[in-house]
Amino acid sequence: MSRPARAAIALGSNLGDRHEHLRAGRAAIGALPGTRLLAATGVEETPPLGGLEQPAYLNQMVLVETVLSPHDLLRALQAIETANGRERRAHWGSRTLDLDVVRYDGLVLTTTELTLPHPGVATRDFWQRELAELAPHDG
Ligand code: ADP
Ligand code: MG
Repeated sequence: MSRPARAAIALGSNLGDRHEHLRAGRAAIGALPGTRLLAATGVEETPPLGGLEQPAYLNQMVLVETVLSPHDLLRALQAIETANGRERRAHWGSRTLDLDVVRYDGLVLTTTELTLPHPGVATRDFWQRELAELAPHDG
């Protein structure tokens, strides 16, 4: 079997019990088939992006090893979002749990569903800090 991929997944929550949503998200990611949590960053609070009036976010990033393909991983993460009460309303709007694939090995791709690495890496300082925090675990 081929070597599993390494993926960095960003978790964000700005509604309800934010710490609990992150905890549930981490647990659900670790329970995905063929997927193992390798490391998690600290939790950081950030102001909302996109200029909408909404509460602050708690953010965290996890590093996983997974045999899921990028698209299967994305769909599995979307199912976890839904299971944690996420309703898809306004883009940029408030959410109980947002899960983004920040990177997947060194893969560069753009499809209608999935862009890798996530374009937000360029502009989100906190993602860059979190990636740096995970780097020592990504040997
Ligand atoms: P946000 O940009 O605020 O995370 P959503 O979570 O609603 O907004 O995601 C919008 C769409 O972004 C999803 O339907 C998904 O198909 C797409 N998408 C593209 N690339 C990625 C990625 N790397 N990780 C997660 N979603 C992605
Ligand atoms: Mg998202």
